[in-house]
Amino acid sequence: MTAPVYFISDLHLDAERPAVTRAFTDFLRRISAPDDGAAAGALYILGDFFEFWVGDDDDSPLIDEVATALREFSDGGPDLYLMHGNRDFLIGDEFAIRVGAQLLDDPSVVSTSGDTVLLMHGDSLCTRDEDYQKFRTLARSPAWQADVLARSLDERRALAAQLRMASRDAGSRKAADIMDVTPSEVERVMREAGVSTLIHGHTHRPARHDEPAGTRWVLGDWDDRGWFLRLEKGDLNLVDFPINQ
Ligand code: MN
Repeated sequence: MTAPVYFISDLHLDAERPAVTRAFTDFLRRISAPDDGAAAGALYILGDFFEFWVGDDDDSPLIDEVATALREFSDGGPDLYLMHGNRDFLIGDEFAIRVGAQLLDDPSVVSTSGDTVLLMHGDSLCTRDEDYQKFRTLARSPAWQADVLARSLDERRALAAQLRMASRDAGSRKAADIMDVTPSEVERVMREAGVSTLIHGHTHRPARHDEPAGTRWVLGDWDDRGWFLRLEKGDLNLVDFPINQ
């Protein structure tokens, strides 16, 4: 029997939303030791797992709590993979090693449970948001990252708060369709990767789409509901569940 594989994204874990953190640690326990069926074989976290990330040296209690839960999960056997999102792209090797995860490039083609799928966070698919794409290029450059990481923890926390505020302002001004993926870009990346299944998050629009190049699954963000995609015996299912505040 092949173990099920799970995909999640956009939990936006934040000390201000303890119910979501609790829902996540409950989720890890549930998929490690389900009441019925097989335990998880792997978990893929496809970005924006944390609301912001200022460096692996961040000593906040939230990160400690989440790291402990992840470590316990990966020690129990399942493979754990982490992809960067547009909020937590500074997660580094130190944190990955600490929790027993492998950092995944965006995009990544993975073969898992007998299927080949293309995994992305999804922000790079929103090509119509030109301002954001410019920032993305800058923020992914080694020079920018080295400069930021050289600052004190307090300075980095202030910068993160500033970026979040700017992104909220920009988000409210932009047309709704700019914030969604560009169909031609979806087709391009799927054809280039040679896959017929794409899984991504970022847009907070959970759905299954039939695209010219295959099937595109969009994960949901966690707020008053949590979302995961489960792959078992070649079948993908998008599942949501309530999060009690
Ligand atoms: Mn995102």
